[in-house]
Amino acid sequence: MNTPSERDILHYIGGADDASLFQRADTVRRSVFGDEVYLRGIVEFSNVCNKNCQYCGLRAHNRKLKRYRMTPDEIVSATDVVAREGLGTVVLQSGDDFSYSARTIGDIISRIKDRHDIAVTLSLGDRGLDEYAYWRDCGADRALLKLETGHVKLYERLRCGESFQERLHRIEGLKRLGYEVGSGIIVGLPDTDILTTVRDMVLLSHLELDMIAIGPFVPSPATPLAFNPAGDVELSLRVSAIMRILCPQANIPATSALDALLPGGRQTGLLRGCNVVMPSLTPEHLRSDYAIYPGKNMTEHNAVLKLNTVKESIARMGLVPSQSKGSSPRRHYVDQSAPRRPSGDYACRTAQCG
Ligand code: SF4
Repeated sequence: MNTPSERDILHYIGGADDASLFQRADTVRRSVFGDEVYLRGIVEFSNVCNKNCQYCGLRAHNRKLKRYRMTPDEIVSATDVVAREGLGTVVLQSGDDFSYSARTIGDIISRIKDRHDIAVTLSLGDRGLDEYAYWRDCGADRALLKLETGHVKLYERLRCGESFQERLHRIEGLKRLGYEVGSGIIVGLPDTDILTTVRDMVLLSHLELDMIAIGPFVPSPATPLAFNPAGDVELSLRVSAIMRILCPQANIPATSALDALLPGGRQTGLLRGCNVVMPSLTPEHLRSDYAIYPGKNMTEHNAVLKLNTVKESIARMGLVPSQSKGSSPRRHYVDQSAPRRPSGDYACRTAQCG
């Protein structure tokens, strides 16, 4: 399968030949992952955030949102459900909530790894690389840190002054620590166009990521972007498909934002190059409060019933809901000599993080 040229990308992204693009993406996905769809159970353990991203319903200035924090015991119990239901990965996700100390998060990771043979993914935002180093020693396998856009000025405006370069530095640091690293973008953010999107795709492909998440922009009511139009789902699906061809070995989730705008959107994604689904297994009484955007988490089913629905829909497509950890097949440098268990104070590896 030849790598698409810039001319191919521009041709495809404009929708000139969707049938060919989606067929190519599906063929590449099948050649790398076969029929397996990796399932990652997300435990959204805190919706408290100290940041104010303009697109996100969890932003600190959203006073209407009922905030919650799960205790370490509750987080470990929720992870027990993930393991019991046969999922190979748990994603621990929160806003940028620094009230959980590095030691607390490390203890949670160690307890999970002691109880279950599952991969642990961290989606905790802009924590220090010294903390991520400690969590890696505690057994964390993967980290997600989304860019949302590669347009530096837009990033810094939408994320209210956060530094784009620091985010990139953190992503590179996570790779050096031996994490499988994921990032991603939102397609159709205000003040973006096709050229912005193409540049985002080039940036993502250069980052050599293990996971790439693409989702359309979904306006959230309690944010400054509430009255902007939603992103184009078809464009988002095209971007995922092109990323599949550009980065054949990356895990690419069919994101919940697709479902939020198009019923059945995630299934469509699985037919167009995506190979991962990430259902929320956050306890039901909290799940709807993890309100990044409307429709992020369906609430009408309990977590296990909802998960079974997801598995059945995957099976109906002729695909296999996989119980494996679904580690990245991409060859990336991991310092195998690095200690995997806590060896002292969490700051002990700070000097390695540069
Ligand atoms: Fe917080 Fe992340 Fe939402 Fe920004 S995108 S407000 S950092 S939860």
